[in-house]
Amino acid sequence: MAQAIETYLTPPRAAFWRLLQGVFFGVGLFILIALLLKPELGLHVLWNVLIPVAPALLVLAPGLWRNVCPMGTASMIPHHLRLSSRRQLSLAWQSRLLAGAVVLLIVIVPLRPVLLDHFGQVTGLVLIAVALLAGGMGFVFDRKSFWCSGLCPVYPVEMLYGSKPAVQPRNAHCGTCSDCVSPCRDSRNNVTPIDAARTGPGRWAALVLIGGFPGFIIGWYLIPKTGSLLADSPWPLGGAGAFSEGRGQALVDAYAYSLGGMAISLALFAALAFAYPRGLRALSVVFATAAVSAYYWFKLPVMLGLGAPESALVPGLDFLPAAALWPLRAAVIVLFAGLLLARRPARGWLIRPPKA
Ligand code: SF4
Repeated sequence: MAQAIETYLTPPRAAFWRLLQGVFFGVGLFILIALLLKPELGLHVLWNVLIPVAPALLVLAPGLWRNVCPMGTASMIPHHLRLSSRRQLSLAWQSRLLAGAVVLLIVIVPLRPVLLDHFGQVTGLVLIAVALLAGGMGFVFDRKSFWCSGLCPVYPVEMLYGSKPAVQPRNAHCGTCSDCVSPCRDSRNNVTPIDAARTGPGRWAALVLIGGFPGFIIGWYLIPKTGSLLADSPWPLGGAGAFSEGRGQALVDAYAYSLGGMAISLALFAALAFAYPRGLRALSVVFATAAVSAYYWFKLPVMLGLGAPESALVPGLDFLPAAALWPLRAAVIVLFAGLLLARRPARGWLIRPPKA
């Protein structure tokens, strides 16, 4: 077995990945500290730089992200230090965690325009709570079963967008495989959310995510920009009366637009799935293409700094004329259609390690 492990992850390879994980963990820590101490900087790096790049990365190289995600690294530290009790999760619990991940995604994302986009300290505290949960459960459950392939709210999106990765690195967290989840989402070819749970609430959650996500994204971008839920304050949760007057409506709007959009696209998906019951996998890829294209359709002007140079992905990117937006949008749609629809599924996110 020692030989198999060495063949899989040679010392130079292992050192390379540990270094990369350390760098990304450091970047995550930097963002967290900035959110708490220099909120404006932290919010900019998180929401205007890291998050806009993430969907494209999940389409092209979900395995790379799975290898270096700082939250994933936090959840795997107990495993790497041999401090995990490595309890196995039943298929029923794997299904429940997937449902929980979808619910978390749907609950957290609409909070962005009314809360998380405005208050670095709140966002930082949420990230700390999530890191403690992910890392803490790593002491109990085996490898990726609780967080990376369980309750992480990004994980359903990884499965939705990442069915046809362009690159397939080695698995830098699992030198061997203990079948912590079944099937292994990292190693299985052509994985989609419907592969993660055959029965139970996870199955329904996967279908809701696939069908509803394009509408969820479009609805989210149409949320009226009426301001934040909390009054401006250096420490927004610090005192009574911190809630802005009349901002309850902003919260209602945030969920009404996101979930309303989700309901419309889910209805379309349900009709198509009913008409083509054997085409669920193909529908999943079509809806994933629609979702990621919709994301960049709305995000491109922000990334280019059109109208607000400070939101540009890279400083100085706002030199492009507004007319450049349309060919760029068309190019993005063609690019994702080419990547997701025009390519045959060939490989998993990561090369499967030998059995433990
Ligand atoms: S490779 Fe094995 S141990 Fe690692 S995530 Fe996949 S199933 Fe779990």
